[in-house]
Amino acid sequence: MSRSEELFARARRWIPGGVNSPVRAFRAVGGTPPFVARGEGARLFDVDGRSYIDYVGSYGPLILGHAHPRVVEAVCQAARLGATFGAPTEGEVALARVLVEAVPSLEEVRLVSSGTEATMSAIRLSRAATGRSGVVKFRGGYHGHVDALLVESGSGASTLGVPSSPGVPAAVVEQTHLLPYNDLAAAQALFDRSGAEIACVIVEPVAGNMGVVPPEPGFLEGLRRLTREHGAVLIFDEVITGFRVAYGGAQARLGVTPDLTCLGKVIGGGMPIGAYGGLRELMEQVAPAGPVYQAGTLAGNPVAVAAGLRTLEILREEDPYPALEEVSARLADGLAEAARDAGICVQVQRVGSLLGLFFTEAPVRDAAGVAAADGAAFRRFFHAMLDAGVYLAPSPWEAWFVSTAHRAAEIDATVEAARRAFRIAAER
Ligand code: PMP
Repeated sequence: MSRSEELFARARRWIPGGVNSPVRAFRAVGGTPPFVARGEGARLFDVDGRSYIDYVGSYGPLILGHAHPRVVEAVCQAARLGATFGAPTEGEVALARVLVEAVPSLEEVRLVSSGTEATMSAIRLSRAATGRSGVVKFRGGYHGHVDALLVESGSGASTLGVPSSPGVPAAVVEQTHLLPYNDLAAAQALFDRSGAEIACVIVEPVAGNMGVVPPEPGFLEGLRRLTREHGAVLIFDEVITGFRVAYGGAQARLGVTPDLTCLGKVIGGGMPIGAYGGLRELMEQVAPAGPVYQAGTLAGNPVAVAAGLRTLEILREEDPYPALEEVSARLADGLAEAARDAGICVQVQRVGSLLGLFFTEAPVRDAAGVAAADGAAFRRFFHAMLDAGVYLAPSPWEAWFVSTAHRAAEIDATVEAARRAFRIAAER
């Protein structure tokens, strides 16, 4: 028995499913997840002494790779001064300023401890500001485990949702409308019908929780127009895309500005953090400036803030985005060619250093497209890659994350591994 197998067996005795977040348990692909001992740059090392080229990057925060020396230094320095105070600190002001200067829609910003808290709070604020309760989200979009957003399609012609998890009362998701991503006509029809009841539309401006699905031209612009016409709040969930697809996020890259923006991941440099912010007139309604309650014991945590500040400082100083674009394109092109050579049909969809790989014949534009892809081929591919020392997210619904620590050597080794893995995926 490997050390990972032994640990996984023990973990299941004391932790539900053996993990602290479901995707880590390898349910979609089968097998035992390697237990990680440490990371360095683009590489992960497991407790059995194996090393992997890592394309998970903790699902997004690690744009500079694992244990970047300057980020580690900032964390150690901050920790020595005390981990948390429950009182204002200078670092919070510095991080708020950096965020507001970088992200076009931000005039004020509130720090929280996770992406889930950011989206939950942004929805509460939207409802308070509009006096309405309807929420619009898109199938295949993930915004954390907020009750109102844990929703599946209802039956019949209704677009209204039913809970996707036990424990979420039907009444909580009754106000949540579910639409297909990239379908502006469906959004238009919904607003024509129920515009006066809709508080907000929440959307990932580049979908990163159904592999990677870019917004089609006009989709985000159309949501901007509809929300403006009907007095609803447009929320961009940039927890993945913020400081990832461009320094100022997808809104800077694509030129569409929402009313509220949710952030997380990269802005904490690997430490727990989230943030939401936007128009001053909205944010001034948040307590204690206004009546909309939202709080956090560890919000603005000094160690997380220090890791985030240092990460964003490096991103500003080094502007790695052109290089990330180049390295990620090399990966995407290499994967596409390797698949062609293996005679298997895949779609490689990429925006900056976010990449999605689908075993399907047509470009994927929504959740239905992801669901139609070949899951068994993905499982064979995933395990062949893992055996070859390439660590991918254990689900076809997750993105690949490229970091500044991924250089041509890692990319070429990955493509080499993929040549064989695609041949295995193609076998029935
Ligand atoms: N929004 C998006 C777009 C996400 O990808 C995630 C997490 N993967 C969240 C929100 C929730 O963030 P957290 O896991 O930090 O609560």
